[in-house]
Amino acid sequence: MDPIDQSQLKETRQVLELVKNQKAMLGESLVSLDLFLYLHKSISLLHLDDIKPVLLEKLPHILAVRYFSLFLYNPSQMELTLACSNHLDMAKPLSFSVSESGVMQDALNQKRYIFEADFTTSKYFKGRKNPLFKNNFFLCVPLMIENKIIGVINVNDSDKGFLSVSDMDYILNVLEFVALSVSNALLHEKTEMLSITDGLTQLNDHRQMLHILGKEFDRSQRYQSSLSLLMMDIDNFKRINDTYGHQKGDEVLVALATVMSRLCRSNDTAARYGGEEFAVILPETDKKGAMVIADRIRQEMAKIAFDVENKEFGVTVSGGIAELDLSTMESVSDLIHAADRALYRAKEEGRDRVILGD
Ligand code: GH3
Ligand code: MG
Ligand code: MG
Repeated sequence: MDPIDQSQLKETRQVLELVKNQKAMLGESLVSLDLFLYLHKSISLLHLDDIKPVLLEKLPHILAVRYFSLFLYNPSQMELTLACSNHLDMAKPLSFSVSESGVMQDALNQKRYIFEADFTTSKYFKGRKNPLFKNNFFLCVPLMIENKIIGVINVNDSDKGFLSVSDMDYILNVLEFVALSVSNALLHEKTEMLSITDGLTQLNDHRQMLHILGKEFDRSQRYQSSLSLLMMDIDNFKRINDTYGHQKGDEVLVALATVMSRLCRSNDTAARYGGEEFAVILPETDKKGAMVIADRIRQEMAKIAFDVENKEFGVTVSGGIAELDLSTMESVSDLIHAADRALYRAKEEGRDRVILGD
């Protein structure tokens, strides 16, 4: 074969090789794009609790990493709270001050990602390597929307054993999108919360109270479990307003809401029923159990000294309790009326007391 043919052949081979490589790269990009679009579709959800399982299932695969943890940032408390992680070694729930994690603190303060190719030689190494992680690199990325930090994602271990510059570029792009979804969900949840919360007391409002009571009523019917309802009303509240002013009156309302929230158990629901009337829904509680909580609220309230112009005044509350009796009560309003009747009796019998409905 003459030498010209040889060099042409070599050139053709090189071109073929190049085309093959480009095709492979294009194939990889298309797979990445496909995964990315898939993630986009599956995490454009309105609730964080729906986003978390998708992230747990898909994110490691999409980022081509083994481990990740997502923390949400609370700027007023300067706290990080674990939202989800595919580490098996993390306790849940987990909340800590930002200052407890040097690397996350730096990522938040500097508003940029922190990458260390070898964690053990970095300034963040505290002498203990997590035995779970096989690679030494780590990446910590603040999740930001318009310069506002909403959380942090930590990434560890990849099948390749390292992260290249293009891997990192890709990860940062995907995480920007995750930040958007998480932020949308948080905003949506906040809006939802505001629409069901009484602005003054931060308790559930009337509508939300009826919604929860309806659900608890159905649950009691299905499982034959007990359910009690406590209605509370501030005594002579009109006089408090007239004597000390509306603002003082509002202060009293907030104080009662605070006492109620503090003394209610996690399954109970406290609500502002309207004006100076409050309600507590007590699932799995009979009227005797409800009485214990109601009387504690009444006594705690009576202990508070409200001051106005160097004088002090006290406030009492009355309560009425009804326990769901499915043989006589057909609907939520029957239960509410029974609690209201008991409250009316408490007023009649001299106020500052809680009466059990019959
Ligand atoms: P009783 O012991 O029988 O319950 O007497 P009361 O004065 O508490 O009852 P009444 O129903 O006559 O008065 C309720 C008052 O609550 C009248 C209303 O102006 C006041 N009120 C309702 N909502 C608010 C509020 O958001 N802030 C303040 N400051 N007052 C309110
Ligand atoms: Mg009243
Ligand atoms: Mg009233």
